[in-house]
Amino acid sequence: MRALCVTVDLDRDANIPIRGSIAAGSADRGNGTGPRFSSSKRGLSLLAELFDGMGIKATFFAEASALKRMDAGLLSGHEVGVHGVDHEDLTMMSADRKREVIREAACTVKAITGKWPRCFRAPYMKADRETIDMLPEFGMDIDSSFYKEVTGSFLPERMSNGVWEIPVPEGRDAAGKRITAFLWPMHESKRRPEDYIRMASVMEEGVFVIATHTWHMVESAERGMMSREEIENNISNVRKVLEGMTDAGMVPMTMTEARTAAGGP
Ligand SMILES: [Zn+2]
Repeated sequence: MRALCVTVDLDRDANIPIRGSIAAGSADRGNGTGPRFSSSKRGLSLLAELFDGMGIKATFFAEASALKRMDAGLLSGHEVGVHGVDHEDLTMMSADRKREVIREAACTVKAITGKWPRCFRAPYMKADRETIDMLPEFGMDIDSSFYKEVTGSFLPERMSNGVWEIPVPEGRDAAGKRITAFLWPMHESKRRPEDYIRMASVMEEGVFVIATHTWHMVESAERGMMSREEIENNISNVRKVLEGMTDAGMVPMTMTEARTAAGGP
């Protein structure tokens, strides 16, 4: 099996932690750091069009507050997992508070998509063991909150708590520099599609997770809102990454499909 899981964090625009607040904010574009969702919304519609056109079923890790503001019809046919309620740093919370957040987040996914979520990614990719251990209480058995060095055999592993870890790969580029399968630097014009395609070519069997954010299709974290030309170029780059991988024989699937293919339920 050489699976490709296309994963997208669906969260508030250019999210940043706010000192003294559990809820995340958005990068200040002149009106303060209150949460914004318009870039995330535009990005979702662009990515859904791209994925649907390519016949790819993606997995969206949706923050509940963002999900409530989206056109849910765009998510039809894709998998939706949990990514907090207000993009909280779960490592800063008590166990009781974590449970409240995870329960509310999962219930929101169910209410909006009609399906109970099976997979989880921690906001900021910041998860502790306590958080992962409580996922089965809420009917979730897949986590993708960690990075792991990609190797020839890169199969998901079932942990002692029953949760399957399907990590985001990391590795070294042609120049020996660290690269992860989060497309962030490509959206910031610091990486090219070829860097990711080369990285994925290391894997002979397993599940390669590509990760991005909806908002990052139309807004740069460093440069602010993208021009129409930048957005078109950005979409074209994501398409090149995905085509490069599927042309190399990798098979797109959702996180739950990948877990099943790896021997899970
Ligand atoms: Zn996020």
